[in-house]
Amino acid sequence: MTITERQSYRLAIVGGGPAGLSLARMLADTDGLEVTVFERESMLGGKSYSLYDYARPIELGTSYTAMGHRIAKKWMKELGITLRQNGESRYDGKPFIDYVKDGSGKSFALQMLHFMWSRRRLLRKLSKNPDDDAALAEAALPVEAWLKARGLRKIERFMHRILTTMGYGVLDEVSTIQALRWIDVDLLLSGQFNQIHAPEQGWTEFWKRVADGLTVETDAAVSAIKRDETGVTLTVNDEARAFDGVVCAAPFDQFFDVVEPNEAEAWLNDSFDWTGYASALVAVEKWFEGFQIDGYSEAARPGSPKGKMLGARYEADAPELGGRLFITGQIPGDYSEAELQEILEDEIKDRGGENPNVIMLRKWIYFAQWRPEAIRGGLLTRMDRMQGQDSTWYTGALFSFESISHIMDFNARLAPRIIEAVKR
Ligand SMILES: Cc1cc2nc3c(=O)[nH]c(=O)nc-3n(C[C@H](O)[C@H](O)[C@H](O)COP(=O)(O)OP(=O)(O)OC[C@H]3O[C@@H](n4cnc5c(N)ncnc54)[C@H](O)[C@@H]3O)c2cc1C
Repeated sequence: MTITERQSYRLAIVGGGPAGLSLARMLADTDGLEVTVFERESMLGGKSYSLYDYARPIELGTSYTAMGHRIAKKWMKELGITLRQNGESRYDGKPFIDYVKDGSGKSFALQMLHFMWSRRRLLRKLSKNPDDDAALAEAALPVEAWLKARGLRKIERFMHRILTTMGYGVLDEVSTIQALRWIDVDLLLSGQFNQIHAPEQGWTEFWKRVADGLTVETDAAVSAIKRDETGVTLTVNDEARAFDGVVCAAPFDQFFDVVEPNEAEAWLNDSFDWTGYASALVAVEKWFEGFQIDGYSEAARPGSPKGKMLGARYEADAPELGGRLFITGQIPGDYSEAELQEILEDEIKDRGGENPNVIMLRKWIYFAQWRPEAIRGGLLTRMDRMQGQDSTWYTGALFSFESISHIMDFNARLAPRIIEAVKR
């Protein structure tokens, strides 16, 4: 059913995280399109999760904007959200570049040029012919093997920090295509010129303001989706609701659990694995001072056991809680939250922190790592061809990358496709 056939088109978006809310805002001014966002939690923003009980908002989830966050920063400006620049960041307690330079081979500058040239070459090949078998095989390689084949050992060390410490996969597991998608010119320039900022009012407040004026229902869990030629029926808190189309903006496997899947959806559900990420708010009596962020290479190298502390970010002083507040990160593996908490306290002590007290630890469904066989089998093309089939569209971290900038850029391309399809 399209707008011309029934004057208006009712579109349901499942998920009120960054993907669902930003898409809803991009579609909001379309004549004849009625968009409703359903979020099962009482709070909007998904993995954007600000804590407001301290001297300033502390981010347990989404933390920064970089240069690539153009749309987010534009909206922040419009919505009265201001940005604060990050403090100094180190790796193993030293300037990051020292760690990178310890890698073998040519100078870092030459290796970076070689990396950017090889990156562009592969991305171009895939954009010219997405079914090119040789390019797909290269894209599916673990990025460590891809870098080794080119003698880029300094870039490997660069990626320990820029990729793994941020939870975007260990180098001998994550595919080349996902690593290359993340490390682009914007990201390099952001690091070089410290264009990394955090919203002073917090990400949660940002999403609240984005949602203002949109039709958004919270505490609204979608538990079933039925599609046929007459439209789409969603069961929301046990009530049947009629729509003409639906957008998956929830983690794909959660959407898969509530929909009667078609063939493409069934194939996709077997094409990725969540890497996971755990972040914690910790009060530590005494720990590193004089810079804001430290990362630990030992936790990020291939072969390192899961659960080790990837890094820590100083946030605020809180003497009433027993010290200074830090946010930490871990790759959770199969550990429970209680086990991760124990490991974390030991790790902090090993790194010189005194009397750590974990106030809150949360495991996130994070970073969908695409399986190599799925990449070789045409995952990117298949994800694109699914759009609009069975009156269903898809967005979010699996379809672009686990970052707000990638998700918003993806939505900026998806929104016109949805508008065109429903107006036809
Ligand atoms: C610790 C951490 C730090 C991060 N730091 C950054 C950063 O600095 N910069 C950056 O750009 N990104 C960062 N990210 C990544 C960013 O937060 C995510 O990429 C983004 O939140 C993904 O958005 P999404 O909408 O795809 O999914 P989510 O944020 O997971 O949102 C999905 C929403 O769908 C809802 N949902 C699921 N099932 C249903 C259902 N059946 N019915 C109704 N609702 C449902 C969920 O409740 C959730 O709210 C970070 C993430 C974490 C965890």
